[in-house]
Amino acid sequence: MVSTLAYLLLGSNLGDRPARLAQARRDLAATAGRIAAASSLYETAAWGVEDQPAFLNQVLAIETELDAPTLLAACLAAEQLQQRERLVRWAARTLDVDILLFGQEVIDSPHLTVPHPALQGRRFALVPLAEVAPQLVHPVLHRTVAELLASCPDMLEVRRL
Ligand code: AMP
Repeated sequence: MVSTLAYLLLGSNLGDRPARLAQARRDLAATAGRIAAASSLYETAAWGVEDQPAFLNQVLAIETELDAPTLLAACLAAEQLQQRERLVRWAARTLDVDILLFGQEVIDSPHLTVPHPALQGRRFALVPLAEVAPQLVHPVLHRTVAELLASCPDMLEVRRL
């Protein structure tokens, strides 16, 4: 079986956020593959929306035998498992799982864009990714994650817990 190292970004801004990320790690380890590395947890103010609680973010490196669309389905299923428990009156997201990178693959389909198109503009993704894979080269921009972080225009504070 071919195995690919994929990088996922987890985010939660509702309820017991560390517990939600821990549950997501367990769910993804069961459905998607072995977690080869996990960043620290980082807290970031919600983007542009002032009345929402701050996000906790974490990047996972996951060694997966799934193809990218099937990995996306596993990410959405992990989200669904926790959306079900959420209180309907809250608009905030209990759990968000994005595919940042899937090996060196470049994918542009209606349902999946990889590398994630917003990666280079968001410190809340680049800071945890740089912790686990600073020398990883972005397959489209041909720059390392550390270089992308150094030139990222986003000024939002990303605080390591
Ligand atoms: P959102 O809930 O705003 O993160 O959007 C989720 C949707 O974005 C998914 O249903 C995917 O079809 C689509 N999508 C496109 N590219 C990606 C990606 N790299 N990672 C996760 N979702 C993606």
